[in-house]
Amino acid sequence: MLTVEKKGLCAQYGASSFHERVDGMDGVTRRPCLSRITPYVPGKPVEEVERELNISGVIKLASNENPLGPSPRALQALEEYLPRLNFYPDGNCYYLKQDLAARLGVEMDQVVFGNGADELITLVGAAYLDPGDEVLVADPSFSEYDFSARLMNAEVVRVPLKQFRHDLPAMLEAVTSKTRIVFICNPNNPTGTIVYRQELAAFLEKVPRNILVVMDEAYYEYVSEPDYPQSLEWVQQGHNVLTLRTFSKIYGLAGLRIGYGVGPREVITDLNTVREPFNVNAAAQVAARAALLDEAYVREVYRVNQEGKEYLAGELARLGLSAVPTEANFIFVDTGVDSRELFQHLLRQGVIVRTGDIFGHDRCIRISIGTPEQNRRFIAALEKALFDLQQR
Ligand SMILES: *Cc1c(COP(=O)(O)O)cnc(C)c1O
Repeated sequence: MLTVEKKGLCAQYGASSFHERVDGMDGVTRRPCLSRITPYVPGKPVEEVERELNISGVIKLASNENPLGPSPRALQALEEYLPRLNFYPDGNCYYLKQDLAARLGVEMDQVVFGNGADELITLVGAAYLDPGDEVLVADPSFSEYDFSARLMNAEVVRVPLKQFRHDLPAMLEAVTSKTRIVFICNPNNPTGTIVYRQELAAFLEKVPRNILVVMDEAYYEYVSEPDYPQSLEWVQQGHNVLTLRTFSKIYGLAGLRIGYGVGPREVITDLNTVREPFNVNAAAQVAARAALLDEAYVREVYRVNQEGKEYLAGELARLGLSAVPTEANFIFVDTGVDSRELFQHLLRQGVIVRTGDIFGHDRCIRISIGTPEQNRRFIAALEKALFDLQQR
C-alpha cells in the first residue's frame, strides 16, 4: 500500500550510508541527501521551441499558468513602483499583510509570505524536519513536498490516491511517532480532485496534535464544489493547520513569485525564524496588493476557466477519453497512448503539455485550461495526434 523510501537507496547512487558524508573523487564533500533529489528540469523556453521546430504561436499548457495575463491593476501598480527599485523590499510585507489579514479575517501575525508558496513548503521542512523524520504525502501529488523532505534528510511516506483522490483514512493509518508533517494538496496537483469537508474534519479530529497539517490550496480560488472545506476555520479553532495559497495561479503573477501561509502564531513565528529577511521582492508585494483588490478580474478568470473546463470535458468525452473531473485550472486525462510519444506529436503542432510518466501514469497527460482559442487548438492537435498514433 504505502511506500517508505529506504535509506539504502543512497547506496545505489554511490553514497555509503544515509547519514554519512561522502567524499567524491576530487569533489567537494557533499550531503548524501543530494543524491536523492532530482533537480527540477525546466522545459525549454517557448521561443526556443519555436526556433527549433521552425513554427510560431506555440502554446504552453503545462504549468497551470493564468492564460489571461496579470490583472491590469497589478500592472499599473507595478509600473508606478519601478522608480523605487533601489530600495530593499519591506521584509515584513506590512501593507500586503494588513490587506490580506483583513480580507481573510485573521490576525497579521498569523500570516507569512514566501517567494512563491514553493518557498514556504521548503521552509516548513527547514523548521520541522530532522533526519529520519517522516513526511506524509499522497501519491501522485505536488513534487515540492518531496524536495522539502529530502533536503532535510527526512523520509517521504507515500499513500496512493484512491480513484485519483486523497485517501485520508489510509493517510491517518500511515501516521507514526516519526510523522512531523502531512501535506494535503487540495485541489490535488496533478489530478484536480479535492477532499470534502467531512473527510477533512474526520482526519483533523484524529490526527495527533504535534503533527503539522499543511493544506496546499494553490488552486483555492478555482474551486466550484460547495462541499470544499474551509481550512482557515480549522486554523482559527487552534488546530495545527497551515494553509498555503499563492498569487501565481488565479492572480496571474507566477513570474513575480509570491505566495502566503496562514496558520497558528507559533508556526508563523517558526517560519519567520527560518526565512531570509527579504524573501519576497518589492515588485511582487506591490503587484499582489493591487491584484487582491481586483475582484472583477478574479471573477473573470474564474468564469473563463469554468467555460474552458466544460468545453474540454465535452471534447475529451467526444474523443472517448476519460478525464478526471477537476476543481482546478488543469485536467488530468487518460489518453490511452504513451504520453511521451503523444507529447512529441503535440509539440510538433505547437502545443506543450505535461506528461503523466512523472506522476506514475504513463498514459495520462495534465493539461492546463487555456483561453477558448488555446483550448480549441489543443483539442484539434490532440485529435490529429491520436489519429496518427493509432494509424501505426
Ligand atoms: C503552483 C503550485 C504551488 C505554488 O506555486 P508558487 O508559484 O510557488 O506560489 C503550490 N502548490 C501547488 C500544488 C501548485 O500547483
